[in-house]
Amino acid sequence: MRSTRQELGQRSETVRRANLSAIVRTLHESGPQSRSDLVAHTGLTRSAIRVLVGELTAAGLASEDRAVRRGRPGRPSPEVSLVPDALPAVAFSIGVDSLSAAVIGLGGIVLGVVRIDRPRGHDGVNAIVDDLVGLLDRLPGGRPQSGSVVAVGVAVAGVVRSRDGLVEVAPNLGWSNVPFGALLADRLGWRVAVVVRNEADLGVLAEHRRGAAIGVDDVVYVHGEAGVGSGIIVDGRPLAGAAGYAGEIGHLPFVGQVRCRCGSVGCWETEVGGGALLARAGLPRDAGSEGLERVFAAAEAGDPAALQAIEATGRALGVGLGGLVNTFNPRMVVLGGFFGRLHQQARQVIWEELERHSLPAPRAMVRVVPAALGVDAPLLGAAEVALEPVLADPATRLGSRGSLVQLASA
Ligand SMILES: [Zn+2]
Repeated sequence: MRSTRQELGQRSETVRRANLSAIVRTLHESGPQSRSDLVAHTGLTRSAIRVLVGELTAAGLASEDRAVRRGRPGRPSPEVSLVPDALPAVAFSIGVDSLSAAVIGLGGIVLGVVRIDRPRGHDGVNAIVDDLVGLLDRLPGGRPQSGSVVAVGVAVAGVVRSRDGLVEVAPNLGWSNVPFGALLADRLGWRVAVVVRNEADLGVLAEHRRGAAIGVDDVVYVHGEAGVGSGIIVDGRPLAGAAGYAGEIGHLPFVGQVRCRCGSVGCWETEVGGGALLARAGLPRDAGSEGLERVFAAAEAGDPAALQAIEATGRALGVGLGGLVNTFNPRMVVLGGFFGRLHQQARQVIWEELERHSLPAPRAMVRVVPAALGVDAPLLGAAEVALEPVLADPATRLGSRGSLVQLASA
């Protein structure tokens, strides 16, 4: 069958869009590089790269720096990089103890970030929406212009339906059935998508793309705060479950009789969450990140009660990690939130218990490491999901006269 001229035109437009996406995604994930590196990374021809990079630079989405040599022999090769503030996303993170906001551009470049401690008891959904929107004014560059932001990503310590950002339940915030994405979108009044995800799912995404797990395709990220969540990558892909609820390992049945905020008894997080460490150290379970800071500082100063609390919590963490190693056979377990700090001080007992509670074959393949992005991993992951539509089809953002098209004004 012969294709009509119109069909051929549509096909070449589809190819152009896919190729632009390949270039932008490569620059976003792997950083600035020469046109030759882009040829190698994308498999596109040198002339295709020239034309498409020309299109991206004309629109202000990419730039070429002719001065860069990067210490290589031979002729200096100009590097292509994305312009970070061309199409930035706004990211929010709602922890039990803190709130943060950031403006993050293509390439994962943080253009501005602000974090505040969240007063306990200030849990009302509307209060938190107000606090988040208020945070924007405290960003170093001031409140972003509505037309300049491509999308908003939000990390929440809760079970989130990925389809529409409904927070089904956030036990440690006391929320259930909160249409958080819609509420925040309303309050912001920007005509852009608001994407809400579980904080550990976003943490693993960020660690996989830019942190401790770059190039590692089987990863379990375990995030410890008041509660405990996980984000899991299997064979390079996030494990979401049917609706995005997968990874609630904090609520795996464990030993113990402490009632969990989820309504069950003896969940793993009642033994390894922030409250468990605080209680072992003789502090109230709800003493929050400030309390945890005191326990770690006391342990560093040699305080026996704090050291004992850290050891016991490290052991309970290691036991559970052993089960996760058996279940998922990861190459890497990344410890985020306060677990990164716990790992610094209890690395040995964590590994001892993991050894005692895992099978030799999967254990021999796994490394346990602290999160490289620290407590910011969920925030950076929120920006990654918000920027995804730009990566998937940057052509929609290129105007006809070499300008960028903003969704809010489109
Ligand atoms: Zn529970």
